[in-house]
Amino acid sequence: MFTTRAFAATDPTSPLAATSIPRRDAGPDDVELEILFCGVCHSDLHTARNEWAAWPTIYPCVPGHEIVGRVVKAGPKVTNFKPGDLAAVGCMVGSCRTCPSCKEGLEQYCDTNGTVFTYNSPGPDAIAPATYGGYSDRIVVNEHFVLRVSPKLDPAATAPLLCAGITVYSPLKHWGAGRGKKVGIVGLGGLGHMGVKFAHAFGAHTVLFTTSTSKIEDGRRLGADEVVVSRNADEMTKHARSFDLIVNTVAASHNLDPFIGLLKRDGAMVLVGAPEHPHPSPTVFGLLLARRSLSGSGIGGIAETQEMLDYCAERNIVSDIELIPVPKVNEAYERMLKGDVKYRFVLDMKTL
Ligand code: NAP
Ligand code: ZN
Ligand code: ZN
Repeated sequence: MFTTRAFAATDPTSPLAATSIPRRDAGPDDVELEILFCGVCHSDLHTARNEWAAWPTIYPCVPGHEIVGRVVKAGPKVTNFKPGDLAAVGCMVGSCRTCPSCKEGLEQYCDTNGTVFTYNSPGPDAIAPATYGGYSDRIVVNEHFVLRVSPKLDPAATAPLLCAGITVYSPLKHWGAGRGKKVGIVGLGGLGHMGVKFAHAFGAHTVLFTTSTSKIEDGRRLGADEVVVSRNADEMTKHARSFDLIVNTVAASHNLDPFIGLLKRDGAMVLVGAPEHPHPSPTVFGLLLARRSLSGSGIGGIAETQEMLDYCAERNIVSDIELIPVPKVNEAYERMLKGDVKYRFVLDMKTL
């Protein structure tokens, strides 16, 4: 065990502050990273403030699951990494590895409930009450959950791919976004801006739904063929019954019916946003009269996350970021709540 610096929440209302935390020593299958950059996800805020009743926060809480770092140690059984390599860690650091979902590479859906999330999962190492995330200096992770990062990509702008990127890439792939398909992305924040980039890159006719008129131009620049201001009922109606797929990234409770009405027969809306309060239940008739589905999707498995990182390296896709010093994270949370982020804050860990 060793001690490393971190930035943590100690209760739901106090600002995050500097502290130190224990990490396990790297075992034979482990990689130890010096963290260079860590993205700021809205889930970090939900967790730091204990907003999810289904997943209560264990304090102290060190958020952060969009981690890019430099390998400083690799255990003797590690085959894919050596000291000096750039590497990344996303939302998971462990799972049972033997159940059907894990065997299919869907560790985030581990059938034994064995997914160990990067932060706020009960501590499997027994050196701390919960896992501690990337707002810290070092992290030690089993090699299976460490990703390779191409040196072609800007490492700071790559960090958000580890959660925001994969969380939209995975449902876009699963539901077949591509040429000939009309795909909507709801909300232009961290997840949403990656959703627009990927849907466009896959060749889908891409429509951004935003509540912010100030984001219309950016939506187009990022790859949307059309931008709809979702508060404008007339603009919404023009798209009735026309979408194959809508990926909804909104971080707050809202009425889903206006979006469900825009789906074609057999169309699907996939919820990836995870708001504190539940959405009002949608009308059943909106679903049954056109055999539409409402679904959900959680991050992505390790193999698919690597596939996404490799795809991004090939196509030069990264996140649009605002690089900030670590102590500014509290201010960043307030701006995120106002939808004022273009389009992901990333912490520069050398400022810790
Ligand atoms: P974000 O950067 O804050 O973006 C959320 C966007 O939602 C905002 O930019 C805004 O876009 C839109 N929005 C509309 N009304 C809003 C309101 N009342 N309050 C807040 N946002 C509103 O958040 P994010 O990091 O992309 O995360 C989005 C959600 O996904 C969060 O709930 C997060 O916890 C969840 N998440 C889920 C997964 C998963 O595995 N399913 C993974 C990561 C994150 P406009 O201004 O364009 O309307
Ligand atoms: Zn996240
Ligand atoms: Zn499993």
